Amino acid sequence: MPPGQELLHTARRDDADAALLATPGVAPFSWRRLLRALRDPDLEILEVAEPLWVGEWVRALRYIALAKAMRVVRRRRVAVATYAIENLDVRDRLRRPARLALGVSLLALDAVVFGTTGAAENYRRTFPRSLRRTRHTVLTPRLDECPVCPPREAPREPTVLFLGTPSERKGFGVLMRAWELSGAVSRGWRLVVADPSGSGEREPLPPGVSVTVDPPRSAVHEMLCAGAVVAMPSVRQPGWREQIGLPLVEGLTHGCRVVTTTETGLADDLREHPLVELTTPGDAASLADGLRRAMESTATAVPGRRGHTKSDVVAWWRAACALAR
Ligand SMILES: [Zn+2]
Repeated sequence: MPPGQELLHTARRDDADAALLATPGVAPFSWRRLLRALRDPDLEILEVAEPLWVGEWVRALRYIALAKAMRVVRRRRVAVATYAIENLDVRDRLRRPARLALGVSLLALDAVVFGTTGAAENYRRTFPRSLRRTRHTVLTPRLDECPVCPPREAPREPTVLFLGTPSERKGFGVLMRAWELSGAVSRGWRLVVADPSGSGEREPLPPGVSVTVDPPRSAVHEMLCAGAVVAMPSVRQPGWREQIGLPLVEGLTHGCRVVTTTETGLADDLREHPLVELTTPGDAASLADGLRRAMESTATAVPGRRGHTKSDVVAWWRAACALAR
């Protein structure tokens, strides 16, 4: 979390980062805490949930209203900013009256950072007028070296990693078909599934495939340092589409090659990335080709800065809101 930021959370996931929750300034949301933060004369920006996270956005509109009302007792106004990554087409999610209402409510935002070009296009297609009045940009997630792991010189094992619940929407079924089509076993490849919950579909696994349930973070880092390829063949489902995909980001930060589909919001941003193979969603033959290309590739990424951290996002909001003042 960038310095100087407070985080008031309205819900908590089971896999929330314990270290983050223990950080000073991180606390469950209450109106008293929000009011105290809004009274702080140094407060510049109120970050709220993205508008297409509709349930949270409806709550956020009340926080924004309070922040605007507080201007009477503050010496300076508080700018309102959001970070948006929703990739599922707005028209698949909301009916026209809801889209119109959401478009009007977007005018409450001063600055928007999109995490992917896919998300930016999604909002621009549906809310072009609202976005014209808001400062916005695309800052993709940081993809360079993992800050935890030391640099590794040893050659990588012929292993494909699947990080996440082995479900249909994460493309596990199509990956199993592609695994057989690619001739993986005769090539000496292995596929390791790191299933966080152990609740994934349990069909007999093909040869060369193993599952490890809920591995600790340190073990995941080790797998990413040793493995050659991360597979994230997400498939769109009614009401769901991959936004960014943590496995993709984790694979690239560890120098793995990544096989994914055009369904992720980052697909357009990664088209030219030397370690990324884009395949057709739900198409086992295309995925098998992608696996072969990735496993046989000798491409490496030039070391150096790629993408942006949360601190960069906050810096962009601050600059954009200062310009708008
Ligand atoms: Zn690492």
